[in-house]
Amino acid sequence: MKVVEGFSNKLLTIDLTNKSFEISQIPMEDRIKYLGAKGLGLKLFYDNFPGKIDPLSPENIIVIMPGILMGTNAPCSGRFHAITISPLTGIIGTSSCGGPFGMSLKKNGFDALIIKGKAENPTFLVIDEKGVTFESASEIWGKDTHHTQDYLSKYGDGILAIGPAGEHLVRYANVISRHRFLGRCGFGAVFGSKNLKGIVAKKGEYKILPKNKVLFDKLRKKGLNYINRNQFTAYNYRNYGTSSNVNFTNPKGAMPAYNFRDGYDPQSVNLSGEKMAELFHSKHHTCKPCSILCGHKGIINGKEMAIPEYETVTLLGSNLGIFDPAKIAEWNDLCSKMGLDTISLGGTLAWAMEANEKGIFKSELTFGKEDNIADTILKIAHRVDIGDKLAEGVKRLAEEHGGNEFAIHIKGLEISGYDPRAAFGQALSFATANRGGCHLSAYPVGLEIIFDLLNPYSEKGKADYTIFFENLFNCINSLQTCLFTAFAYLFEAPLTKYTPHFLLKFIMTNFPKIAISLVDFSLYHKMWVAVTGLNITAKEFITAGERIHVLERYMNCLLGVSRNDDILPARLISKSRQSDKKQKLPPIDKMLKAYYKKRGYDKNGKPTEKLLKKLQII
Ligand code: SF4
Repeated sequence: MKVVEGFSNKLLTIDLTNKSFEISQIPMEDRIKYLGAKGLGLKLFYDNFPGKIDPLSPENIIVIMPGILMGTNAPCSGRFHAITISPLTGIIGTSSCGGPFGMSLKKNGFDALIIKGKAENPTFLVIDEKGVTFESASEIWGKDTHHTQDYLSKYGDGILAIGPAGEHLVRYANVISRHRFLGRCGFGAVFGSKNLKGIVAKKGEYKILPKNKVLFDKLRKKGLNYINRNQFTAYNYRNYGTSSNVNFTNPKGAMPAYNFRDGYDPQSVNLSGEKMAELFHSKHHTCKPCSILCGHKGIINGKEMAIPEYETVTLLGSNLGIFDPAKIAEWNDLCSKMGLDTISLGGTLAWAMEANEKGIFKSELTFGKEDNIADTILKIAHRVDIGDKLAEGVKRLAEEHGGNEFAIHIKGLEISGYDPRAAFGQALSFATANRGGCHLSAYPVGLEIIFDLLNPYSEKGKADYTIFFENLFNCINSLQTCLFTAFAYLFEAPLTKYTPHFLLKFIMTNFPKIAISLVDFSLYHKMWVAVTGLNITAKEFITAGERIHVLERYMNCLLGVSRNDDILPARLISKSRQSDKKQKLPPIDKMLKAYYKKRGYDKNGKPTEKLLKKLQII
């Protein structure tokens, strides 16, 4: 039996231009400093940094990284990470996916994959433990992702594929792996620009074992117990998926409606996970392996399809003034076939609807109108008629046609489904998220709105929480396990568990530094140690998370990012939500100033040389 104990550090680099590949070793020092998956992937990207380039040119590269936990059967460990320069933002784009590709890659003995260059003709790659073969994709070029995956499954189960949107270089095209996605940042367009229709990793014969099996088994059991007794992971998400968030965000004015004019709509209750489970008789449809099981599918209009997640019901639903979950599920299914990110698509459609209202970009798109959405999705995916313009995303549309005051994006990435005016910590973390308008960089909205543990309308401590969770989430993304495990793992410390809610909220709001110092992330740290057999301390582990965040920021600064880009869309700092009588707006400048100081950035938002040296980045 072939065995990988912990990690192989084996890197497969593929050059599409020359149809060549090489296998090399990742230095052990980098493994320790950058942990794995996202962190180590960013380091490999930095080592091959292409500089300021057209993201759709052959100079761009794609790094794909299975997690260190992958293959060990740790809870929720079926996820992998990818890194490129995003065609939407022009800066570092990262994305995480729970499809089977990562597992197959690792079972072929590889811990990392880099793709360079551009194939002359439509191509797909077949990877096994010896390397790669280059195959003609002429028979599947033009086909949707479902058809493409059926075709590629002859070669193996670990598939990555793009649909027509990727081929037509839609800037927010995604990449599918079975029914999960490298969703954000336009990876599909980067694949398309390289004439790369898909990648298949064959089954692979390596067995992945943790170095310290006794310790690992203990930790795994503990993790499963935590997940299975946590209200959120074992009940809300497991039964109703992430759309169960609707019942938390909508009443608190945090669920965008009508292109972020408001954060509440009474009809949004129709989009909750609870409602959809009742309507569609849902069953699980998840990443593998997973112990939380947040993904669901059901019967919708007589057809089995995925039940849309929170971001999708928000961006293709309430934010467009549409509240019919069956319609949204159908568009979600169409996006899956075409290979489109539903968040950026929804943000773009919302901008177009408002621009049409204001007469600056005429179309048939109107808030609440459902009958032309499917057709518009097809036009975008194939860049036909108006679809060609909409394929560019909000930032470029507003630059060309005006309407910047209602262009809801940060750094070019359309904002996901949380209104930052309802949660000031989330406002800050949206502004500082390295990839742009992303909620997953630190997710303070979880503490502010979902768990009600921080005052959402206070700026107190928000820089501290944002920094801490940015660092920790980078560790989690480098293990890699699902970020939702944090709901279960971080609330188990006795102090958190047994302190009355009002007191915990008081402490967390008023004494952020003390509260943060008491957060118990030891399960993540110990799992990394058990699998790798490398002894790093908890402090070194969380410092690696900081290093990863700062390295990404540093590369973004090399690509031109500065304080001027850490801004919220004009609407979200100058106009309050329609239903907010108190007219609250996030004090973003004040929070950002505190954040830069605590991070060790200069006034322009750049990591100082001192910080880069301290973290051993340079
Ligand atoms: S909880 Fe959801 S997102 Fe996380 S690994 Fe499981 S199915 Fe995937």
